[in-house]
Amino acid sequence: MEKCDVLIIGGGPSGSVAACKLLNAGFSVTILEKLDFPRFVIGESLLPRCNQILDENDLINTIESQNYMVKGGAIFINEEKKEQYIDFRNNLGQKWGTSFQVKREEFDNVLLESAKKLGADVRHGYEVMAYDNDKNQITAKDREGNIQEFEARFVLDASGYGRVLPKLMDLDIPSDLKLRNAIFTRVKGEFRRDGDAEGFIDIVIHDDNQAWLWVIPFSDGTTSFGVVCEEEYFTKTGLSKEAFFDKVISDHKYLKEKFEKAEKIAPVGIINGYSAAIKKMYGKGFALSGNATEFLDPVFSSGVTLALESSNKVAELIIKELKGEKVDWQKDYEDYMMIGINVFREFVYAWYEGKLRKIFFSAHKSEKIQQSISSILSGYVWDENNYFVKDTRQKIDALVSMIE
Ligand SMILES: Cc1cc2nc3c(=O)[nH]c(=O)nc-3n(C[C@H](O)[C@H](O)[C@H](O)COP(=O)(O)OP(=O)(O)OC[C@H]3O[C@@H](n4cnc5c(N)ncnc54)[C@H](O)[C@@H]3O)c2cc1C
Repeated sequence: MEKCDVLIIGGGPSGSVAACKLLNAGFSVTILEKLDFPRFVIGESLLPRCNQILDENDLINTIESQNYMVKGGAIFINEEKKEQYIDFRNNLGQKWGTSFQVKREEFDNVLLESAKKLGADVRHGYEVMAYDNDKNQITAKDREGNIQEFEARFVLDASGYGRVLPKLMDLDIPSDLKLRNAIFTRVKGEFRRDGDAEGFIDIVIHDDNQAWLWVIPFSDGTTSFGVVCEEEYFTKTGLSKEAFFDKVISDHKYLKEKFEKAEKIAPVGIINGYSAAIKKMYGKGFALSGNATEFLDPVFSSGVTLALESSNKVAELIIKELKGEKVDWQKDYEDYMMIGINVFREFVYAWYEGKLRKIFFSAHKSEKIQQSISSILSGYVWDENNYFVKDTRQKIDALVSMIE
């Protein structure tokens, strides 16, 4: 039986950032990671709030030195090619007004290597199979099929889409968001904007809001490109994912021009039913962070931000608990996380209900509202000075009524 202070399941951004914080506080950390790195994972566009958390954990210099594409904001583009810029620098006074577009196989590897440098015992090829909550023991299978046992003072599940403890402990609940598909690939040779705007993410509205597309430019000249729509919207076409992809491009005025000279450089992938929710984010001797908790929707690129926010917070609370201090997990972790998650949730709903496009494309917005939107889309969803942070739905509805 191997022993450590904190055992982390999963070496994605959530696991690595939590590990760095715990190691900096002097605790021993073992990370069990099923796969060899670098490994592909979807989710390549970050928000300024990520930079703040990386900064708080002394990781920002390492990330800045990777020469990733700087992301200054988002450009929403409608079916008529009308563009609406959201510049992250035009926020409510927050320090970080830009972030990065990253290939996750590279970004996640850099973070995991940082944890290793600080002393994390990272075991690749170890798949967690079972958890004994009474003894806080984890059973994992290594790549040769050998069974290994680990005992920890605290277990953190950062297994992302693996959702290890939610499955083992029956913590999963269905998400209240609709079942959607994401169909994606990487391309090169598309038309790019000049200057700072080159790094902005494009969020392209298609077919009266029935689908939207992301265009995420990387600094090596390649680009991530994906379509999101309800499952039925895709299946009723009867097309293969490749043909569906090509049809969406040729049907959209903006995309047709932008991708005229582009070529696909990766196979077209598909993910469906990715939204997930959870009964509880913590229990005696364990907690969940990142995508192992709740995953909403890709539209505002909130996934890695929520993953880093939760891992930063959970690590802070684990440190307290291991030092013998009392921790109010409900208030200081779950309630705290739900504030930010619920703001994004309301934005996601309002996006699919077509309300946000009315707001984004309206000329009748005060500068303060513009800054508040920019701040939310930058990931500053805990800032109580922001108009949208409390009673988010009512505030969005009030604004839409005013605009109409
Ligand atoms: C279509 C789509 C587009 C997205 N776009 C964006 C975006 O632009 N920006 C953004 O911020 N987010 C985006 N996301 C969300 C993003 O993918 C996730 O939020 C992010 O990867 C969460 O990080 P994590 O560290 O929690 O989990 P992960 O990155 O999934 O890492 C979890 C790790 O755990 C390991 N693991 C799993 N099971 C086990 C096991 N049994 N034993 C050991 N190890 C295990 C996995 O191998 C993995 O390495 C998108 C999501 C989707 C579905």
